Amino acid sequence: MRFGRFAPTPSGQLHLGNLRTALVAYLAARASGRGFLIRVEDLDQIRLVDGPTIEQIQLADLAALGLTSDAAIIHQSDRFDRYQEAIDALGDRIYPCFCSRKDLRTAAVAPHGATPIYPGTCRHLSPAERRRRAAGRTPAWRVNTDDAIWTVADDIHGEVTRQIDDFVVRRADGVFAYNLAVVVDDGQQGVDQVVRGDDLLDQAPRQAWLADQLGYTQPTYLHLPLVLDSHGDRLAKRDGALGLAALTTAGMSVEQVLTHLAVSLDLAVPAEAISLDELVGRFDPDRLPHQPWLIDPPTWID
Ligand code: GLU
Repeated sequence: MRFGRFAPTPSGQLHLGNLRTALVAYLAARASGRGFLIRVEDLDQIRLVDGPTIEQIQLADLAALGLTSDAAIIHQSDRFDRYQEAIDALGDRIYPCFCSRKDLRTAAVAPHGATPIYPGTCRHLSPAERRRRAAGRTPAWRVNTDDAIWTVADDIHGEVTRQIDDFVVRRADGVFAYNLAVVVDDGQQGVDQVVRGDDLLDQAPRQAWLADQLGYTQPTYLHLPLVLDSHGDRLAKRDGALGLAALTTAGMSVEQVLTHLAVSLDLAVPAEAISLDELVGRFDPDRLPHQPWLIDPPTWID
């Protein structure tokens, strides 16, 4: 069985944009005959013990919309051994990087406003130089990509080609890098369809390259345009006002929230009562809107 997935970081309540991405991930998986997984991306989060955690609130909101995982939910915080195994499997490609943040700021080049490219400063240090530098600073760990150029196919953005710099796989503070963990998890969970917000589009070629290095299937991608508020700003998880709890407290039913999400995806007409199964039947990745969704929720609530 192959899977699609929604993989939230438990850093705050899910807002409408996150819920919309989760809905599209679910619909894309079901409409293509895949299973649907939820994964908790708590790489550098400390789990709280008292009261409902952010994770539990996120999962409850997803469940309220009918979005539940077909298999047990895994946590990245339980999988550090797997991430280290993947780093070990990359062997000679892995090297220590002693650059400080300041070094990186001055050295990185960012063509056309894209994510800064690491220029390979520490790639060719001699063993003696590495030992000398290790005495003064704990290194981050990078993967040597030999300046690969990689292309991914995205359902909304078409073919996306990027030069792959030597990106970090383990940070100097010991935390495994998101780009590594997500590739290992998707590969090991049988995920071959990645749906998420288009703020992560630039990471997709890196991740696809790494999946190839580790012998995993390269996923198909769908990077959904973000949701902007009435000021034209991106929603952030701290915008609790645009979470399910706030909307239902303000008088909307969960069904109405689902309808609003479906309308924003051109899958329903305003005020139409619609089930998840019906949405699966209507879902067509080729017909998704390519523009950000501009929302002004107070006008929804009478
Ligand atoms: N954990 C990421 C987030 O919450 C999503 C990562 C992914 O879907 O690849 O933004």
